Amino acid sequence: MSNKVLIVEDERAIVEILKFNLTREGYETLEALDGETGLKLGREADPDLILLDVMLPKLGGFELCKTLRSEGRAVPIIMLTAREEENDKIFGLEAGADDYITKPFSMRELLARVKANIRRRVLDVGDLPAPAEASGELVLNPDSYAVYKNGAPVELTQKEFDLLRFLMAAPDKVFSREELLEQVWKYGYFGDMRTVDVTIRRLREKIEDTPGKPRYIMTRRGVGYYFSQQ
Ligand code: CA
Repeated sequence: MSNKVLIVEDERAIVEILKFNLTREGYETLEALDGETGLKLGREADPDLILLDVMLPKLGGFELCKTLRSEGRAVPIIMLTAREEENDKIFGLEAGADDYITKPFSMRELLARVKANIRRRVLDVGDLPAPAEASGELVLNPDSYAVYKNGAPVELTQKEFDLLRFLMAAPDKVFSREELLEQVWKYGYFGDMRTVDVTIRRLREKIEDTPGKPRYIMTRRGVGYYFSQQ
C-alpha cells in the first residue's frame, strides 16, 4: 500500500509541483488549499505525513499543527516555512511539527525529508539498536510505538519517539547533535542542529517531572545529550 501525503498549501502552483513529484515517487496525495480543510483531512483521511504551509487562509499552519497534536495525533508533520522567517522554524517545531523545510526548496531535499519522516512501519524495528524497554518509571514499547510514564500513556510524535528510543538504547552514552541528526533524522548535511534541541525540549516537557531539571534526558554541556540510567 502506498503512503499517503496530505499537502496543505494555498499556492496552487506549489501544490501541483508537489503532487507531481510525490506521485512519481509512488506516494498517494491529498490536497487542502486552506487550513480548515487541512484540519478536516488530517483528522479524517489518516495521512502518513502532512506537508503544512504556515500562512494559510481560514486556519494557520501553526494552529493546525497544535490542534492535531492536542488531539493526540502523532502523524509526521513537515512545515513549509519562508526562508526569511527565521523564527517560523522554531515556532513550527514548538507547535509540534517534526521538521521544517524552507521555501523555495529543492525537490530532492523535500523528497528526502518526506522519506525520512514517514513512519517506517516495517524497516523501523531493525533500523535502530535494540531498545532498553524500561528505565525507572518510563517504559517504551517499540512494537506498539507506545511510551508509558508511571503507567500512563505519553503522547509522542514520531521523531520524539525515535529520539527517545535511540537514546534509551544506549544509556549513558553521549551523542552529539550531529550524530543524532544523522542517526535519528537520517539527514546528513541537510539538518539543522536546532531541530535536535527543540525536539529534546519537547520530549523533556512530556516525560520529565521537572523539564528544567531532567532525570532521563541529560545534557553534557558542549558535547551533546544522553539518556541517564537510573
Ligand atoms: Ca501560504
